[in-house]
Amino acid sequence: MSLQTHDRLLWPKGKRKAFTLSYDDGVTQDIRFIEMLNKYKLKGTFNLNSGLLGQPGVITIGRKPVTHNKVCPEDVKSIYAGHEVASHGLYHATICDSDPARCLNEILACRKELERLEGYPITGYAYAFGAYDNTVLQALRICGITYARTIKPTYAFTLPENFLIWNPTCHHDDEMLPELIEKFLNDTSPFPMLKLFYVWGHCYEFDQNDNWDVMEHFLKKIAGYEDIWYATNNEIERYVSAYRKLVFSVDGSVVYNPTCTAVWLGAIGSDCVTEVGPGCVTELPDPAIL
Ligand SMILES: [Zn+2]
Repeated sequence: MSLQTHDRLLWPKGKRKAFTLSYDDGVTQDIRFIEMLNKYKLKGTFNLNSGLLGQPGVITIGRKPVTHNKVCPEDVKSIYAGHEVASHGLYHATICDSDPARCLNEILACRKELERLEGYPITGYAYAFGAYDNTVLQALRICGITYARTIKPTYAFTLPENFLIWNPTCHHDDEMLPELIEKFLNDTSPFPMLKLFYVWGHCYEFDQNDNWDVMEHFLKKIAGYEDIWYATNNEIERYVSAYRKLVFSVDGSVVYNPTCTAVWLGAIGSDCVTEVGPGCVTELPDPAIL
């Protein structure tokens, strides 16, 4: 027998599954993708290079050459309305093994310009080429970045311990994706109790691989579930960070929420859900017996 305290994180409203998307480079193909996300009421995070906005281009790697035109700075706010804009570096430079000043500028100048365009604080980041080292991690902290996405797949639905090394579940072209969708939708296991399905990619890849319809099929399949929280990267990170600031009594009977975010809690082996309001001290149910 074991006693399970009601201190486990649940997603808002007591949900146990969340789904998020992260797309890089700020290309004009994002517009078509966002139309699809809006159609299915899904949320995405889009990682832009502020120093490259408005630049035309063609990308020749992949199955065929496709346009790699960056969205214009004056259109950023309207194109990404309802979704999150995050940084992807000023010029998409390789900042590993570079001096700290260049590294800081690549991160901070991008953040500052995107904030000017969007009008809200931008604390998300996606590593250019997925690459980082200790200098980059330190620079991100100094620049106030609260999460950063890699390109290393976990093939799992777990949360990162360190949001500055946030490994996604998989890329949208990964051959494991169909299997992972089924696993996620049918997963009722208590371990992990909280599940996050995180897919990343570049929207120009749908042109390269002619698979817009495959992606739409996937989005349609995962959309519309009452028990899944559809959120941006930023919403997820801020929510989990609020949970990590909760202060529990030693016996687990009460909890204090010092943040301005309501947090939902549960226990392994129990369907009971407790909402802990911002600034509140809340009594928790007796431990569940397993
Ligand atoms: Zn990129």
